Parts: sequence; C-alpha cells; structure tokens
Amino acid sequence: MDCIFCKIAAGQIPSEFIYQDDDFVAFNDIHPQAPTHILIIPKKHIVSIAELADDDVPLLGRMMAVAKHVAQELGLAQNGYRLIINNGPDGGQVVMHLHMHLLGGRKLPDKMK
Ligand code: 5GP
Ligand code: ZN
Repeated sequence: MDCIFCKIAAGQIPSEFIYQDDDFVAFNDIHPQAPTHILIIPKKHIVSIAELADDDVPLLGRMMAVAKHVAQELGLAQNGYRLIINNGPDGGQVVMHLHMHLLGGRKLPDKMK
C-alpha cells in the first residue's frame, strides 16, 4: 500500500521511534509545531476517525494510553500537552492514515473550539 505512515510503521522508511509496541509506533513530526511534536499511529492502516470500524474503537483507547505514557516519559505531564486528531479535509487531515499529534514543551496558542 502506498501509505507513508504504513511504510514508517513497517520500518521501510528509517525512523527513530520514540515508542513502539505491537500495535503502535510514535515518532517525531517532520515539521514540528512545538518543542515536542510527536505522531502516534496505529500500525494497522486505518484511514481516519470517520473510517473507524466498531472493532477498532478499543484501539483508540489504547492510543490514548500510549499518549499518556509517552508524555509522562518526556516529562510533559506536569505542565501539560495537547492531543489532536485531524479528520478529513475541513479538519486539516493531510496524511490519510490515522494519527494523533502530541504537542507540548511550550504554552500552546489558543485553540479553536
Ligand atoms: P495531519 O495534517 O494529516 O493531521 O498531519 C500530518 C502530519 O504528518 C504533519 O504534521 C506532517 O508534518 C507530518 N508528516 C508528513 N509526512 C511525514 C513524514 O514522512 N515523516 C514524518 N515524521 N512526519 C510527516
Ligand atoms: Zn497507512
């Protein structure tokens, strides 16, 4: 499959993993928007939240747990951080493989609601 994040997850594109387990990998965003900007992705190719199958819902819970773990390991837990999942064109999703942004290390700008 011609998916950049599948290739990263499969090790076909050399990447430094900040975290990995059977189901997820985490790595630095190529265009960081904050001192810490990590992408957490399922190894399984899921296009987006909109395409999420009911069977994959528990995976999202585990993705949150991975985010919590990585943030803790990087010392972000006390000052805080932001988790973002963009979905579809209006949401600004560019890479069509589900991913969560973990941003921190500075006071982030006010967010859209
Ligand atoms: P989206 O807008 O789809 O939520 O975010 C996609 C993110 O993936 C962007 O922040 C972009 O900088 C990052 N990105 C795109 N291609 C690559 C890549 O090949 N390697 C890494 N590490 N990040 C990428
Ligand atoms: Zn993929």
